Amino acid sequence: MKKLVSAGEILVEIMAERIGQSFLEPGPLLGPYPSGAPAIFIGQAAALGQPAGLIGAVGDDDFGRLNIERLRTLGADVSAIAVHTGHATGTAFVTYRADASRHFVFNIRNSAAGLIETNAAATKLLAGADHVHVMGSSLFSDRAIAVALSAIETVKAKGGTVSFDPNIRREIMQASGMRAALDQVLARADIFLPSGEELFLFSSAKDEKGAVDELLARGVSCIVLKKGAAGAAYHDRHGVIASSGFAVDEVDPTGAGDCFGAAFVSFWLRGTAPAEALRIANACGALAVTRKGPMEGIFPLETVEAFIATGKSAQ
Ligand code: ATP
Ligand code: MG
Repeated sequence: MKKLVSAGEILVEIMAERIGQSFLEPGPLLGPYPSGAPAIFIGQAAALGQPAGLIGAVGDDDFGRLNIERLRTLGADVSAIAVHTGHATGTAFVTYRADASRHFVFNIRNSAAGLIETNAAATKLLAGADHVHVMGSSLFSDRAIAVALSAIETVKAKGGTVSFDPNIRREIMQASGMRAALDQVLARADIFLPSGEELFLFSSAKDEKGAVDELLARGVSCIVLKKGAAGAAYHDRHGVIASSGFAVDEVDPTGAGDCFGAAFVSFWLRGTAPAEALRIANACGALAVTRKGPMEGIFPLETVEAFIATGKSAQ
């Protein structure tokens, strides 16, 4: 089976308990939950049985141990997660507003996560990789950008493939070279997985079809547009396949896009037809939102298949 690798932020997430809760005053919190978009992605891929490993860094502390242990339990290769003394594991505090938008307080660049590098363990992991997945949120510093771009080059040089989810988090994406890096990653991507408005960050077109056509003409093989509770649409040069989501009670949307992407990419790598890969991805995204905490809604393939067999389509 093909092995997939991602590189980037490994964090714990700490969540405000109440909707609309402000971080300007003390209040009840939930967590720590293991998190970080590439960690969620790799954890979900591993849970589906895909060989998957992560390049990143944590502190020599309980938050770091929580993350490594969770990824190991899910079956991921954690050999390229560096453990640093002197820096704490990265954190993300999140509160949900009444309009369903999210407000984050991140500590990434100045945490152990900021020490990410292509060290010997990362080089070894990449030597065995067939595919690299890049999250836009992982391009949080010049150093992190260098790691992502070098991972892409290594895997592409031996005929491997690349997927890219912009996963825009305005709070963290202040690296000077970030915009150029987003464009560079997209230019190397075989699979592009934007959600909502992210599609239009990379195109001058005003509608979905126009933007998709422009990106396909620029060499992206396929575009998978995530649409929250409405499911997703897959586009390639043959046309579009729309797939409605599954009806679930959403308790926490964070992580849905990462679980969706991991499932789609894992099944794409196995040669599964796009319509079927989309169905499994929709199921993983739906299951992800049924649990508080971004990695708590990661389930093994058997559970996902049982959910598909019995789950209610959103339409
Ligand atoms: P993230 O918050 O992880 O960045 P995203 O914006 O990248 O998420 P979404 O479109 O929110 O991605 O969700 C990804 C997928 O998860 C959707 O395409 C859908 O399959 C599934 N999903 C998300 N929310 C729901 C929901 N409320 N009900 C059912 N399925 C959902
Ligand atoms: Mg996302």
